Amino acid sequence: MSAPVVTRFAPSPTGFLHIGGGRTALFNWLYAKRFGGKMLLRIEDTDRERSTEAAIAAILDGLQWLGITWDGDVVYQFARAARHREVAEKLLAEGKAYYCYASPQELEEMREAARAAGKPMRYDGRWRDRDPSEAPAGVKPVIRLKAPTEGETVVDDQVQGRVTWQNKDLDDLVLLRSDGTPTYMLAVVVDDHDMAVTHVIRGDDHLTNAARQTQIYQACGWDIPMFAHIPLIHGPDGAKLSKRHGALGVDAYRSLGYLPAALRNYLVRLGWSHGDQEFFSTEEMIAAFDLSGVGRSPARFDFAKLEHLNGHY
Ligand code: GLU
Repeated sequence: MSAPVVTRFAPSPTGFLHIGGGRTALFNWLYAKRFGGKMLLRIEDTDRERSTEAAIAAILDGLQWLGITWDGDVVYQFARAARHREVAEKLLAEGKAYYCYASPQELEEMREAARAAGKPMRYDGRWRDRDPSEAPAGVKPVIRLKAPTEGETVVDDQVQGRVTWQNKDLDDLVLLRSDGTPTYMLAVVVDDHDMAVTHVIRGDDHLTNAARQTQIYQACGWDIPMFAHIPLIHGPDGAKLSKRHGALGVDAYRSLGYLPAALRNYLVRLGWSHGDQEFFSTEEMIAAFDLSGVGRSPARFDFAKLEHLNGHY
């Protein structure tokens, strides 16, 4: 028997609920409902400088207004930092991770070399097999994953299909910073595992992260969730949706007088095709939604269409 479906919406509370975030939440919610599962909400507030209480309130409020509910209590990622550290230290003890004492200057040299070669920065693994007794005095190390150097990392994505990375192109990522705080990459994997998430549905700007996260899952010996990376929303001109295209926040539509049912109906069709049905009741949406209808090309935001839908309600 396969595990019950558990999805999650995991916004970083650094601003209002973006229209793209609203759609990601909606897809996660619909998928969970469709398969009789749960959708969890995790606020990814590990970036202490940029996370704000006002943004958390705006996100919760925006979801509620859209009629998107979550199961159980909201999980705050920052509160789980001790657990993230514990996992990094376990990997260290098992020899699957290591202390890296590379200085900022050494890293800058690697960055410079990569720039000159027109390639992305790649940490060269210089502390992988070095004895920590060689550590320079007074330097606080980071913990890096001992990532595989040969072979491939494969993600079988529900939307993007099979995506393959050559391991030699992926360097040893940082799990724990020198101040003991977890990186986004580690925190997401540990939280999704501990929350028993089975499906990670999010924007395709996270696709490469899925390869990195897969490597962490493998090192931990944990089951890898199903990934579904949905194309980002573009403006009517084909460029990535930005302020110049108009309102970007769910709350902006709310104050302009749009109805939640109209926005929900509009968002569900952004990137999800399902015949030419225009209006869906919530029950119809739940019954019909599936990832197989989500395409690989970016959805285009069409304000006239939203206007039209709004007129219907
Ligand atoms: N917190 C991330 C963001 O807001 C999402 C992480 C994820 O869904 O894995 O972009």
